[in-house]
Amino acid sequence: RVKATGSGTYFFHEKEMNAQMHARHRAETDLRLAIENEQLEVHYQPVFCLERGHIIGAEALVRWNHPTRGMVSPAEFIPLAEQSGLIDDLGGWVLRRACNHAKSWREDLRVAVNLSPAQFENPALALTVASILEQTGLEPSRLELEVTESVLLRDNAVNIAVLDELSDLGVSIALDDFGTGYSSLSYLHRFSFDRIKIDHSFVRDITRNGGSLKIVRAIIMLAHSLGLHVTAEGVETDEQFAIMRGEGAQHIQGFYIGAPMPVSDFLARVQNPDTPFISAA
Ligand code: C2E
Ligand code: MG
Ligand code: MG
Ligand code: MG
Repeated sequence: RVKATGSGTYFFHEKEMNAQMHARHRAETDLRLAIENEQLEVHYQPVFCLERGHIIGAEALVRWNHPTRGMVSPAEFIPLAEQSGLIDDLGGWVLRRACNHAKSWREDLRVAVNLSPAQFENPALALTVASILEQTGLEPSRLELEVTESVLLRDNAVNIAVLDELSDLGVSIALDDFGTGYSSLSYLHRFSFDRIKIDHSFVRDITRNGGSLKIVRAIIMLAHSLGLHVTAEGVETDEQFAIMRGEGAQHIQGFYIGAPMPVSDFLARVQNPDTPFISAA
């Protein structure tokens, strides 16, 4: 390769690679310090129950309040945490924070927390969750853990065993971003989930594209015949809300109900049930 491209190019690549490694190393150090120095925050996106007609809880979504870059998206730093071995610390921090918050909420409010597939590489995952539940005193039935299909890739028996351990703690388990994987249907019988969350890409298209509506309808029928609850993610308009209600989804999440918000705003929101739905700016 060096011969073919000439030494000038080689040195250029080497320099560029060094710069990239350097940048990544700095980002990792930054993230490690962020976890230690409480630069992370958990925001809460309300979950609306159609049957009860009010907000029944929230999904915890982590934010990095970076001193110079402002709010950094989890889509950017979760992968970094996964690659650099920081995901256990980060995931544990989010779970502890979310359980502590939820413990102080009204007792009928639940909280959902995302787990990264990388957290399943730690055989102590269920132990960690159990000890956080114990330390915070949160009733396990008020916690839902969200995983994606990749946790069950290749019929992974170890991960299925961990999901069983988690489920045995009394928490519920949701399959997140349903429909975006390669062979979604095959995952449904590998583990008995409590809920599936229909990915926002389907919800986004239901009013524009007859095919998406048919797929959403089929997913909901399938879920219900398997005894699973359904959350529609990414509901932004009253048309989408009305359709998902008509199709029989139990829970609605999305900017139409409320964008992820700081915990104080979430509490203000649930304490004033008459507050009109707010749209994300
Ligand atoms: P997710 O778990 O599927 O979370 C839903 C994402 O959709 C959130 O993005 C949320 O802000 C966004 N969203 C909610 N309603 C709407 C809507 O109406 N329209 C649109 N366009 N988007 C909507 P966010 O907060 O940027 O998080 C992105 C992803 O990062 C999450 O997807 C989740 O996979 C991951 N993530 C977030 N927090 C954590 C965490 O604490 N741990 C782990 N492992 N992953 C996390
Ligand atoms: Mg989620
Ligand atoms: Mg999702
Ligand atoms: Mg997602």
